[in-house]
Amino acid sequence: MRWLFITALFVATGVQAKSPLEFSLHKLESGKPGPTVLVVGGIQGDEPGGFHAASLLVTDYRVSSGNLWVVPNLNFESIIRRSRGVNGDMNRKFAALGEDDPDYAAVERIKTLIRSPDIDFILNLHDGSGFYREKYIDKMRNPNRWGQSVIIDQEELGSSPFSKVGVYARAVAEKVNARLLHQEHRYHVRNTRTAEGDEEMEKTLTYFAIRNGKPAIGLEASKSLPTRERVYYHLHLMESFLAEIGVRLERDFKLEPLAIKEQIDSDLRLSLFEERIHFDVASARHTINYFPLQREDNIRYLSSNPLLALVPNGDRVRVSYGNRRMTLLKPQFMEYDDSLTRVEMEIDGERREVPFGTIATVGEAFSVHPPEGYRVNVIGWTRTGLSNEAAQSIRRGEIRKRFSIDRNGTLYRVEVYRDDKFSGMVLVRFGEEVMNNISSRAAQKRQNDG
Ligand SMILES: [Zn+2]
Repeated sequence: MRWLFITALFVATGVQAKSPLEFSLHKLESGKPGPTVLVVGGIQGDEPGGFHAASLLVTDYRVSSGNLWVVPNLNFESIIRRSRGVNGDMNRKFAALGEDDPDYAAVERIKTLIRSPDIDFILNLHDGSGFYREKYIDKMRNPNRWGQSVIIDQEELGSSPFSKVGVYARAVAEKVNARLLHQEHRYHVRNTRTAEGDEEMEKTLTYFAIRNGKPAIGLEASKSLPTRERVYYHLHLMESFLAEIGVRLERDFKLEPLAIKEQIDSDLRLSLFEERIHFDVASARHTINYFPLQREDNIRYLSSNPLLALVPNGDRVRVSYGNRRMTLLKPQFMEYDDSLTRVEMEIDGERREVPFGTIATVGEAFSVHPPEGYRVNVIGWTRTGLSNEAAQSIRRGEIRKRFSIDRNGTLYRVEVYRDDKFSGMVLVRFGEEVMNNISSRAAQKRQNDG
């Protein structure tokens, strides 16, 4: 599994942190020769087709020749707030920008990357309105729309070995047009001829690249399509472009809209406190109460996806994923105690050490046996008069469902404390019945014997 390390600036008192979310750069390098392509997603925060496609490159692709550098969340704060640009349109800030602009640091950082001698080509991903057509057909299909187009600023630029951007653009448009989900989705190449006096386009990221001698192409899916179809087109365009230029990719999922949706919606793991807390946000409840959090300015967390972020929201913490809010953590503030990394449990009669941050599958019953001086709380299980639930036998069906961490009522929190400090969490899942366990184990044994 791949962890992406992210630090969130978080002020627990409810004061909004100034600039909590910086974009991340992910280098997928093959170690084999080939060009290096920079892919940028999320320059505008309300274009999920582009930023989810870029994010999938990071989480679900491997590169087997050449290199891919991916910034899936350029305007991260706007993504989280589902806004085109909380500080105005970032894609008009590449010609001139005052140092006092809130986007200044991000724009400078991405400019440095674009200019980096390592980078041979830049792809900037967008979701545009309607459908671009050379001639006016109707309100949504005309020369002023951007959806379903491959954008170039000019046919070619002088010095780069990959300078014929027009040739690439037409090649990828032709390829994707052979894989359309619907004929209405047909792609067209749009040359904005920026250098000939398009003052708006002169302020964009791709034209900044061109001015710095770096070939760049804009890819646009249509906002009229559901996200999974926008991502489908972006991935197709990128795959055929990268094949063309000599960057080879591998992926494990099928390139079709439903498989893409499944890929986007699964495996959103979040971990805190050196992985002593670890859960999947994709299946989490809408609200998680009494979540053990330490009061501090910086919450460090790990996430398995670059679009996942912890965002302070008053005294609570919102877990956001792209444009969506996944869950709201209502914290119980307490100090962390790092003296343990695991706890002993008895599961269906067998004793074992269970590391914090993992899931223990239980058939019928479990009990928790921490060292002397530690206390156990199984969230949603109570016995009158008992404040320490260590060594109690807890059976299937005894934990109240609404206290599960997941929506389906299958994962329960077992928490260990030392005095008032939080030491770690194990999740318990009641899996198959013990009888099934035993019989499947018996079957396994028979198979091994045979
Ligand atoms: Zn855009």
